[in-house]
Amino acid sequence: MTNRTQLASMGLFDAKVPRYTSYPTAPHFAPTFPAGSFTNWVKAVPEGGKISLYIHVPFCRRLCWFCACRTQGTTKDAPVIAYVDVLKAELAMLAAILPAGVQLSRLHWGGGTPTLLSPALMTELAQAISDVAPFADDYEFSVEIDPNEIDEARCDALAAAGMNRASIGVQDFDEQIQQSIGRLQSYEITRDAAEMIRARGVHSLNADILFGLPHQSNARITESVQKLLALAPDRVALYGYAHVPWMAKRQQLIPEDALPSPEQRLDLFETARRLFVWDGYQEIGIDHFATPEDSLSKAQHSGAMRRNFQGYTDDPAEVLIGLGASSISRFPQGYTQNAPATSAYTKAIGEGRFATHKGHALSADDKLRARLIEMLMCDFEIRNHEVLSNFDISKPALQALLTEANAAFEGRLSLTPLGLGIPPDMRPLTRLIARHFDAYDLSKAGHSSAI
Ligand code: SF4
Repeated sequence: MTNRTQLASMGLFDAKVPRYTSYPTAPHFAPTFPAGSFTNWVKAVPEGGKISLYIHVPFCRRLCWFCACRTQGTTKDAPVIAYVDVLKAELAMLAAILPAGVQLSRLHWGGGTPTLLSPALMTELAQAISDVAPFADDYEFSVEIDPNEIDEARCDALAAAGMNRASIGVQDFDEQIQQSIGRLQSYEITRDAAEMIRARGVHSLNADILFGLPHQSNARITESVQKLLALAPDRVALYGYAHVPWMAKRQQLIPEDALPSPEQRLDLFETARRLFVWDGYQEIGIDHFATPEDSLSKAQHSGAMRRNFQGYTDDPAEVLIGLGASSISRFPQGYTQNAPATSAYTKAIGEGRFATHKGHALSADDKLRARLIEMLMCDFEIRNHEVLSNFDISKPALQALLTEANAAFEGRLSLTPLGLGIPPDMRPLTRLIARHFDAYDLSKAGHSSAI
């Protein structure tokens, strides 16, 4: 039996699995969650500690068909200006309860399209954030930049506000593919955006590309990756396109008959993966690549890499507070999520209360499973000594869990007295193996293909 046939027999080509950017995953957050948890957990941040902030801007000038992000199209500035006012009010409410001396470890502006803010609005928002907490010495401030929606003035405003990382969405450079996903963006526009960002001294550039798009072939993804390599990004996220038109209505415009099969998706991923590795990039977790000098590569080597809602991170802060409609916050005690609709979010903040809509308080079992899953997703291994020293589980109970997982994958994992490892030829199954440690009902959510 070939490795591919074995991967198929273990469900790689038909399973639907979470991407495990949290555990439990967001569909398991509940509205019955105890009121006041967000406030109590913010107040529990240690004085002088570090937190990270995520700011969600749910507006775009155009709505790309492939995108399942929570965002709305607008050609006008008025809703964006009004939304920034609400964000500022939410920031002021946060400042009122945040313990003294807290500093910012990471700040991320995502969306949507944060770069559709005018330079003046960007400066206002940045000022309101620094009124909540100043940057720590080793801070990182990253912004998702749409190359179609950036210019010199906005780049200047972001650089003046302290941006030192940027992420640009590429998806694929092929024109037919771009047309079929409703996102036209020439190579020249992307290159100019990258140059504009770097000219401001921002030396860390991430690029997102997708595999599994309609009309994508090995030849086409090879060409797109080579063009991307010419821009020398420091990090690359190679995500699988998740076709979920029952959840993301815009995807009904995508020509389904031109989508690659699950087997072809594996080929596309492998083709791109090899190109990045040949070019000297380190493989980071299941779907990222980084130059050896990049801090994510260093975090992976030292075992300090973590997984959060933005994918992989080297952020040491335990608390990530999400502001804006639909944003998720993570605390050592659990998760909270703001109301997804901008109207409900705006109403709550206007009434002077936080917009928490759902959440989940972590049990001891959740914390254990969250860490087991995170170790697999980040390091492809579970290290027994780390688990036993940080969680209330006996050695025989942990060994029994790992033995059961190995048996579920036909004994093809690496099981030793030191822990459980995923050998390189089994790594396409990582999310499926992680799912084995998930105690929740997975039928609840419309997860995406395992590959
Ligand atoms: S890909 Fe970006 S610009 Fe396009 S709809 Fe999604 S968030 Fe908006």
